[in-house]
Amino acid sequence: MFWDRKTETLKRSTLEALQLQRLQATVRRVVKKVPLYQHRFAEYGLKPGHIRSLADVSRLPFTTSADLRASYPHGMLAVATDDVLRLHTSSGTTGKPKALFFSRHDVDNAAELMARCLVMSGVTRQDVLQNMMTYGLFTGALMMHYGAEKVGCLVIPAGPGNSERQLLLMQDFRTTAIHATPSYALYFADFLEKHGVNPRKDLALRKAFVGAEPYTEETRRKIEQGLGIDVYNCYGLSEMNGPGVAFECEHKHGMHLWEDNFLLEIIDPQTGEPLPDGQSGELVLTTLCSEAMPLLRFRTRDITSIIPERCPCGRTHRRINRITGRSDDMLIVRGVNIYPQQIERVLMSLPQVGSNYLIQLEGLDEMIIKVELAKAGFDGQVEHLVHLQSAIADRLRTELLVKPKVELVPPGTLPVSEGKAKRVIDHRTL
Ligand code: AMP
Ligand code: ZN
Repeated sequence: MFWDRKTETLKRSTLEALQLQRLQATVRRVVKKVPLYQHRFAEYGLKPGHIRSLADVSRLPFTTSADLRASYPHGMLAVATDDVLRLHTSSGTTGKPKALFFSRHDVDNAAELMARCLVMSGVTRQDVLQNMMTYGLFTGALMMHYGAEKVGCLVIPAGPGNSERQLLLMQDFRTTAIHATPSYALYFADFLEKHGVNPRKDLALRKAFVGAEPYTEETRRKIEQGLGIDVYNCYGLSEMNGPGVAFECEHKHGMHLWEDNFLLEIIDPQTGEPLPDGQSGELVLTTLCSEAMPLLRFRTRDITSIIPERCPCGRTHRRINRITGRSDDMLIVRGVNIYPQQIERVLMSLPQVGSNYLIQLEGLDEMIIKVELAKAGFDGQVEHLVHLQSAIADRLRTELLVKPKVELVPPGTLPVSEGKAKRVIDHRTL
């Protein structure tokens, strides 16, 4: 099913011609309106007329989160303040936030892309979508909300947390789809089990859109089993409208990234050099349709790769693989590079492990991993616990090459955050 079949299935040559035309227009506009780009272009000796092909994108300067912070509050605006309709800020960071502006066209366009995503995964106007993301300065909930309304769903703006109320809404209004972070979806599956609710029999849930933080295939399976539904991976970031940048189709193999709106590159995060399709690196995106705050070559820090093959669904927009982590998420423990996703992959593949874990770094490079047991994971025999603990530590050692200390804790005892999960606490005194 398609929301905008013509655009979603454009011939590659037509799509690329459209991208070039939009890239050139974006470049002309930012050089006219945005001081940061005026300075960078002058510094690089670059003129808008130098951008003659899509490959010329690599001549353009990068934009980083630090640039956005330095331009706070209004420095990146490319329209008059009267033409701005909405302000969001980006979450998850310390210090000054990043101000993100949207014009009327931008808000409508974000909803349009979201509608494409939802219909791509089989949502129709018959669906009831319970939106469990945080409403507010975070783009996650609001942009999804607008997109689902565009499709004509009944949207329940539940926000995160308060699981009793979530369940009540779900039962009373026959919710068919949810939008949640992976950590909350797992927590909610546990909550249903604890309250004796069998989602397959007692609820009308069919699918979940899960994103806003990295998670693994193992976690997807765990959520699917726990809630008895199909989980679709959804990716986005506030700098690029929020959610709805890339989404899985019915094949659930990589996420189609809307290339008529975003120019997609994968670069080596160390050197900044472009990498060929299929190779893993940092995703860099250039807005092609943004009015209020166009961005050139924004460094997302998210690590992924392009799937160049055509998808059987017929969409021509290329797919990106699941995000395996952020380049700034990497931990160095005893000289070894470790991504939290590697730990999650091991933990979530074990049936005895519950829905939550915490990575704690202490003292002189000691790694302690606190792991919640599954409800059925403890039979009361202490020697089984000791055995499980050392089995988990061994599995992690094989994956990470560093042996962590594993501490098993009862289900539901580790902190759950309402927004994005905080998985790593670093107390090292190195
Ligand atoms: P925000 O700053 O709140 O807009 O968050 C955007 C960031 O959330 C992205 O740059 C990613 O790091 C992360 N994110 C969003 N969706 C996903 C996803 N499906 N998988 C992995 N990470 C994601
Ligand atoms: Zn597809």
